[in-house]
Amino acid sequence: MKALADKVAIVTGASRGIGRATALALATEGAQVAVNYASSATAAEQVVAEISGMGGQAIALQADVSQPEQVESLIKAVMDKWGRVDVLVNNAGITRDTLLLRMNLKDWQAVVDLNLTGVFLCTRAVSKIMLKQRSGRIVNITSVAAQMGNPGQANYSAAKAGVIGFTKTVAKELSSRGITVNAVAPGFISTDMTSGLKSEEILKFIPLGRYGQPEEVAGMIRFLAADPAAGYITGQVFNVDGGMVMA
Ligand code: NAP
Repeated sequence: MKALADKVAIVTGASRGIGRATALALATEGAQVAVNYASSATAAEQVVAEISGMGGQAIALQADVSQPEQVESLIKAVMDKWGRVDVLVNNAGITRDTLLLRMNLKDWQAVVDLNLTGVFLCTRAVSKIMLKQRSGRIVNITSVAAQMGNPGQANYSAAKAGVIGFTKTVAKELSSRGITVNAVAPGFISTDMTSGLKSEEILKFIPLGRYGQPEEVAGMIRFLAADPAAGYITGQVFNVDGGMVMA
């Protein structure tokens, strides 16, 4: 029997990149997957079609997860459809890179609102359901930028560092009801988010000498969300970064 048979997973920002690969990986484990997206309806429907094509179940749900009412509607739609939530992957994220002195409040706020507040809003909504179920797995996507810092990413690294602190606190708060909360810190992964970066300079800092693939991050998320052995792991941060951060 597949690890997530009869289980329900929500992946935020699942129309593209790491979220898309994660939705497919969780569906492969038998999960019914809510494919959240902000504006790429066609791409999200393609993910749903791919899951249906392999005999799985999925729905595409539009919601800006930085907005409290939209998060409530998203979770309600999943509950109306499937009546439970077993896995939440807080993956939706954006960058608004610029050096500190040029960073305006709008750039700061947009990144914090989605990358940190969005994680809080989705986790708070889903944890109410998981507490009643007395089980659940939550995986938050942070970044090596939270651990190392990265020029031009004061907003992003601060939000992603916030996700790490949030992960540890919520892991402690939810632990008595069998809910695990972990974080995954990707390095440089080939997605739309990194497509504009100058890779020659970046590759010098990656011991494995290449960008990662979305499926490589999804593999770690799948393990934390689905594998029985991950049931004893909580409050941790796992790097999938080609060796960039060696703690
Ligand atoms: P991506 O390819 O740019 O995809 C971003 C996803 O987030 C899309 O599905 C997008 O939906 C969704 N999204 C954007 N704004 C949203 C909102 N307000 N509400 C809901 N969904 C929204 O990004 P990625 O590279 O896969 O990154 C995924 C996560 O990994 C992010 O949290 C990112 O910070 C983190 N990360 C990425 C890297 C990397 O190298 N790529 C490294 C470290 C961490 P639409 O398609 O509808 O816009």
